[in-house]
Amino acid sequence: ASFNDYQLSEDITRALDSLGYKQPTVVQREVIPIALGKRDLTVKSHTGSGKTAAYGIPICEMVDWDENRPQALVLTPTRELADQVTEDITNIGRYKRIKATAIYGKQPFAPQRMQLTQKNHVVVGTPGRIMDHIEKDTIDLEKLRFLVIDEADEMLSMGFIEQLEMIIQELPKDRVTLLFSATLPKDVERLCHRYMNDPVDIEI
Ligand code: AMP
Repeated sequence: ASFNDYQLSEDITRALDSLGYKQPTVVQREVIPIALGKRDLTVKSHTGSGKTAAYGIPICEMVDWDENRPQALVLTPTRELADQVTEDITNIGRYKRIKATAIYGKQPFAPQRMQLTQKNHVVVGTPGRIMDHIEKDTIDLEKLRFLVIDEADEMLSMGFIEQLEMIIQELPKDRVTLLFSATLPKDVERLCHRYMNDPVDIEI
């Protein structure tokens, strides 16, 4: 398998080349074509499998550079993961000049509010602070087309379920939702049934 098997623009394949990604990992082989086809996905896979690029590649490919308001939201359980995902997406999108911004708690609010008024294609954040921005009306999610819930099981075991559901309810219904989780406990499955549109289930 090769990244040339997918409908990816040269901006993206060139970035994968410079990252040294020679061929897609197993999870990428499963996820990329389905995500490019705009189907919802539930993916059972672990960290280290290349899951970030599995959603990062199709999102970077599909976002419209000209749109200034966020088109993709990636929710993560921790600040560390939010930073890592932001870095990975920035790298994958570097030749397309994709702007990804990390938004999480224990950081001053004002600079984030400022960042959120600027051009952002992808916002990556933890549920609590994203919910704060929604409540204060300092994030514009009207153009959102992609939602990623990363490490969903971790997010729920950290007690983020209420915030997660409140956020999802604020998002446009016409969107692609991709959920990644190492395990699929009952609460995660319930979330999938309630907020996803006939998702394809992938188990790595
Ligand atoms: P992740 O599971 O997203 O945390 O990724 C694990 C590691 O694999 C990261 O360091 C990625 O940069 C790397 N990686 C992701 N996709 C590929 C690929 N197709 N080829 C080589 N390395 C990759």
